Amino acid sequence: MPKFFTFKGGIHPGEFKFTERDAIEDFVAPDVVYIPLSQHFGKPAKPVVKKGDKVYVGSLVGEPDGGFSASIHSSVSGTVKKVDKYHHFSGNMEQTVIIENDGQMEKDPAIKSAYSDSITPEKIIEIARDYGIVGLGGATFPASIKMSPPQGKTFDTLILNGAECEPYLTSDHRLMIEFPEEIILGALLIKKAINANKLIIAIEENKMDAVSVYEKIKDKYKFDIAILKTKYPQGGEKQIIKAILDREVPEGGLPVDIHTYVQNVGTAYALWDAVYNGMPLVKRIVSITGSVKNRKNLKVAIGTPISALIEHCGGYMGEAGKLITGGPMMGIALYTDEIPVTKGTSGVLIQRKEEMSLDEPTNCIRCGRCISSCPMDLMPNLLGDFSEFYKFEESKELGVLNCIECGSCSYVCPAKRHLVQLIKVTKAELKKKGR
Ligand code: SF4
Ligand code: SF4
Repeated sequence: MPKFFTFKGGIHPGEFKFTERDAIEDFVAPDVVYIPLSQHFGKPAKPVVKKGDKVYVGSLVGEPDGGFSASIHSSVSGTVKKVDKYHHFSGNMEQTVIIENDGQMEKDPAIKSAYSDSITPEKIIEIARDYGIVGLGGATFPASIKMSPPQGKTFDTLILNGAECEPYLTSDHRLMIEFPEEIILGALLIKKAINANKLIIAIEENKMDAVSVYEKIKDKYKFDIAILKTKYPQGGEKQIIKAILDREVPEGGLPVDIHTYVQNVGTAYALWDAVYNGMPLVKRIVSITGSVKNRKNLKVAIGTPISALIEHCGGYMGEAGKLITGGPMMGIALYTDEIPVTKGTSGVLIQRKEEMSLDEPTNCIRCGRCISSCPMDLMPNLLGDFSEFYKFEESKELGVLNCIECGSCSYVCPAKRHLVQLIKVTKAELKKKGR
């Protein structure tokens, strides 16, 4: 019997992994794509194209603006219509490169493989930067920055995160089953770039079909498999490290402080594609799920409006109440389905009106469930109280900045208090004050 790794706290929401057995389908890019220059953690990219420019699949359309930014590339061949503000998942209108697709999907002539057995760590990091590779698990942190530790810090272990603990989402699961060697080859590139000596792929026990795929190749590529208990938020960086290595990221610190690097399986696949095929990050897998007629896992050109994906899936089932990018726990509610797919779009969840929770919060009954579910050992009930009474300093003393905004506390609260929203307000207020 294998050992199942886990962490303290967490919750067990319904899984609803409806699309876990649906093979990835290629979605044909639409006539027009809308490619935002802000798709990553950090500053938006600066546009390097203008109206009328000819672009190819993989052509650079936005260059990093400073160190904390990322490159953006075209996902189709065609002509730039304009660079203008357009709908964005953040809720704001953001600068976007709008491209008319010529339907040829012609690759940029400069695209070629950079792989050789002697590829250096520096070259791998350079490719990650130039080809727009960011964390695809949701954080969209530029991979080249994450692979370059501060002076004096080192990595010994790379954890490849295949937990996908959010309900509904199956994009990582399908990728792991359908492209195992590509993912591992990408992970070995990361391992080389960060000079780690150990690679572990972490998969939740509700994906044993994926575990068996990796069992078959683990000796060939020399890596270990850690099977995790199915629990939310098992895929959180701090939770996965604690579960597998029993190491704790220090307060206010980073995984590199404990010599650990965690990267999502989709990111490893994207790095493989960049290094072995010379292809920048221009497509990703998106689960279209919930109240849609035909749920699917689609391989989608970045910049495709979500409305086109829903139409391809047969349209909404009943009256759509809420559209969420990502999963129900940490996803973002969207105000229109015209918002385009970006590098961080792991899924689109549609909820009908009757599925939405519209309960009004009531008074705390001091049951303590939020405390026992918190994976960061916080006291969400008090953090909620402090936020309501503008006591942000007191919240800080209770460790509010360690909150990973997983939403477990709100999920279990019988009084339906909006705890994670209250905590987000506190964090935003503290950030405003520069603390
Ligand atoms: S306080 Fe933060 S980390 Fe703890 S359960 Fe709530 S959202 Fe998650
Ligand atoms: S779960 Fe809700 S009702 Fe229970 S202690 Fe926490 S805030 Fe109060």
